[in-house]
Amino acid sequence: MPAKLTSNAMLTLDFHPTGRHFLQIPGPSPVPDRILRAMSLPTIDHRGPEFGALGLRVLKAVQQIFQTRQPVVIYPASGTGAWEAALSNTMSPGDHVLMYETGHFASLWQKMAGKLGLKVEVVTLPGLEGWRRGVQAHLIEARLKADTQHSIKAVCVVHNETSTGVTSDIRAVRKAIDAAKHPALLLVDTISGLASAEYKHDEWGVDVTISGSQKGLMLPPGISFNAVSPKALEASKSAKLPKSFWDWEEIIAMNKTGYWPYTPNTNLLYGLAEACDMLLAPEHGGLPGVFARHQRWAAGVRSAVSAWGLEIQCLDPAVYSPVLTGVMTPEGVDADAVRRVIYERFDCSLGTGLGKVKGRMFRIGHLGDCNDLTLTGALAGCEMGLKLSGVKLAGSGVQAAMDYFSAHPAAVNLAKAA
Ligand code: PLP
Repeated sequence: MPAKLTSNAMLTLDFHPTGRHFLQIPGPSPVPDRILRAMSLPTIDHRGPEFGALGLRVLKAVQQIFQTRQPVVIYPASGTGAWEAALSNTMSPGDHVLMYETGHFASLWQKMAGKLGLKVEVVTLPGLEGWRRGVQAHLIEARLKADTQHSIKAVCVVHNETSTGVTSDIRAVRKAIDAAKHPALLLVDTISGLASAEYKHDEWGVDVTISGSQKGLMLPPGISFNAVSPKALEASKSAKLPKSFWDWEEIIAMNKTGYWPYTPNTNLLYGLAEACDMLLAPEHGGLPGVFARHQRWAAGVRSAVSAWGLEIQCLDPAVYSPVLTGVMTPEGVDADAVRRVIYERFDCSLGTGLGKVKGRMFRIGHLGDCNDLTLTGALAGCEMGLKLSGVKLAGSGVQAAMDYFSAHPAAVNLAKAA
C-alpha cells in the first residue's frame, strides 16, 4: 500500500504495521541501529575543533576500507556525483574513453561521459551476453593494443554491476592495460561493491575508485567517494573539463586538517565513522570477515534459486556477485508483478530489473546488515510470492538455503566474538 501523503498530515512513511520491513534491494541497504544512533548526535559547527577530529578520523578509516594509502575524497552527493567527479577531474573535452558495458549502471555512466563532452567508445559482448558476464579483459587489451597513438585516455569499468549481479575481475583489467603497455587511466565504479566484495585500490592499480554510502557501508544515501592514485592526481593538474564543486585539489588540501571547502554531511560522517568501526572490527574478522560473510550469504541465496529451478542472470559462476543475485523469471512471467505480490503480501522490497532486463528479472540484495535468518525470511517471502504468482517451482529454495547455512557455519563464531 502506498504511504498516505495528504496535504496537511504529518509525512508518515513508516507505514509497516509491525516488525521490520525487509529491504532486500541491492542498496540502499538497511541501516543498522548502531549507525542510526551515531547519526542522531547533534550537528556541530563544521569549522569548529570537534569537526576537524571527526574529519581526520573518517578520512583515515575510509582509506582502510578502500585498501589505499592515497587520498579518498568524500562528497556530499550520491554515487552519480562521484562518477562525474572522476571524469571531470581527469579528462579534457573530446577525450576518448573506453567504457566496458556490463549492465545498466555501466550504460548510465557512458551517457554521462557523452554529456560531459567525451568521446565514448563502448566495448562489450554481443546481444545480452555482455549483461550476463563480467568484463572481458582480453577485449580491452586488444582494443588498447590497436590504439598505437594512445588516444584512449581512460578505461572505465564497473566492479559490481548492481543491475545484473556480476562482479568483474579488476586485476585482470589492470593486467590487460599493462600488457598493452598503454598509459590510459583505470577508473572503477565499486559503488555497490565496496565493503561487501573484496576490493584493493592500491594493490589492483586503480587510478580512480568511485563508491557510495548506501550499499556495503550500510549508510543512507548521500555521500560518495573518489579514491585517487598519484597518476590520477597528476592527470587532474592538466585536465580541462570544467570542475568546481568536484575539484579534488581544494578538497584534498583542506582535508589535511579534517575540513572541507564547503558544508559536509556532518551526520552522515558520524554514521561513516561508526560504519568503519563495525566493518574493521577485528573481533568480527575485519574486512576479510566482511567479504567472507557476503560470499556465504550469496551462496545460500543461490542455492535457493537453484532449488526453485530458476535461472541466475549471471552466467559465469566465477563472477557471481557476493552482493546481490539476479533471478530470471520464466518466459511470460512479469518479474515486476511477482515483486509487487511479495511487497504487498510480505512487506519485502526486491530490486527491479533495470534497462534491457526490465520485467525479466528481479534482484535479491544480500549485503550489509543481513544475517542468515533475515535472508531466510526474505527467501520465504520470495518463495510464497512466486507461488502466488503462478510460477511452478522445482522445489523449496527456503529449505535449500537453510540446509546451506546449517552445513556451512560462518567463519566468525558469534559466541567467540562476544
Ligand atoms: N553505479 C552503480 C554500480 C550503482 O549501483 C549505482 C546506484 O545504485 C550508481 C552507479 C549510481 O549511484 P547513485 O544512485 O547513488 O547516484
